[in-house]
Amino acid sequence: MTSYKIAVLAGDGIGPEVVGMAVRVLKTISKKTGVGFEMEEAPVGGCACDATGNPLPEATLKLAKKSDAVLLGAVGGPKWEGLDYSVRPERALLGLRAELGLFANLRPAVVFSPLVEASTLKREVIEGIDLMVVRELTGDVYFGKPRGVEILPNGEKRGTNTMVYTTKEIERIAKVAFELARKRKKKLCSVDKANVLECTELWRFVVSQVHKNYADVLLSHMYVDNCAMQLIRNPKQFDVVVTTNLFGDILSDEAAMLTGSIGMLPSASLNEKSLGLYEPIHGSAPDIAGKNLANPIATILSVGMMLDYSFGLKNEAGLIKKAVENVLNKGLRTADIYTQGFQKVGTKEMGEAICKEL
Ligand code: NAD
Repeated sequence: MTSYKIAVLAGDGIGPEVVGMAVRVLKTISKKTGVGFEMEEAPVGGCACDATGNPLPEATLKLAKKSDAVLLGAVGGPKWEGLDYSVRPERALLGLRAELGLFANLRPAVVFSPLVEASTLKREVIEGIDLMVVRELTGDVYFGKPRGVEILPNGEKRGTNTMVYTTKEIERIAKVAFELARKRKKKLCSVDKANVLECTELWRFVVSQVHKNYADVLLSHMYVDNCAMQLIRNPKQFDVVVTTNLFGDILSDEAAMLTGSIGMLPSASLNEKSLGLYEPIHGSAPDIAGKNLANPIATILSVGMMLDYSFGLKNEAGLIKKAVENVLNKGLRTADIYTQGFQKVGTKEMGEAICKEL
């Protein structure tokens, strides 16, 4: 029997609640199909910091490195906000991305038809949206040097972060995006701010160079401010969007809201060997943690992406998507996607219903 090793890093806040449901889905898939999943848990984020003083303990990193895929919940929360940046829970994410070489973040935004009414936008604008934001994950202002806050001779403080991209970094993310576009509607929109930022002028140039190997894909370029506007005005114009770390961080959350709730959106972060880290795009949602209110669908769909991208189990991934759709069609809604007339359920009930559907 084929068996895959999965590191399960639930993290903080709603992380353990939503990951718990995703693990149940994996166990259900295993029972149904005979594919084995060896799951091992390890602490990450604030809880790891409390236990060991390090948001990404050595043992957690070691486990992640020897696994075939990593399932992550979320990290962070008000309890750890006063800590030094070097030990903040969020540093664990940056550490995992850097150590595992996860440079490509794939964030699909798909509107499930039963949820069209849950979006704040009009039906005709969002019905049928199926786009993918490809965000570069290991460069840009999050990693560029110099960085930090210094005190100037006059006593004033100055904060600095540096936007940095090399040709190689742009080439490899562009290739991922072109390959994905090739398997979809063959349209790629590269988003930058080439009119004012030299770094993204290089981005535009390199993406255009890579395009020469993908003549079957239609490439367009868009400034990030325009893209933010177009995502609300006419999101259906997009198929695959590729962009920098900072712009992708913001645009993918905007794309999330098109679908009704941040609680619906999965993500995959891949390295060059297709080892992947799979996580919902939302954070630890401290405001609803421990209350059985969190929507587990983003994490469950992340497991679906894991089966597809890391294990090549397309069929099983499709089963998960279908089960989610069926449960939504039956009228079950967590609070974040609830509208009148539907059945309001908690995290557990939603997860169990999806397992039952499977
Ligand atoms: P958030 O995504 O945690 O929450 C934003 C809002 O969306 C909240 O109102 C929350 O209740 C709601 N929400 C989020 N996920 C939901 C779900 N599954 N179901 C229903 N509602 C949901 O973002 P935030 O409030 O800006 O950040 C909270 C903490 O999470 C911070 O410490 C932040 O640094 C951290 N964070 C972590 C990650 C990560 O681990 N990848 C990502 C973003 C934020």
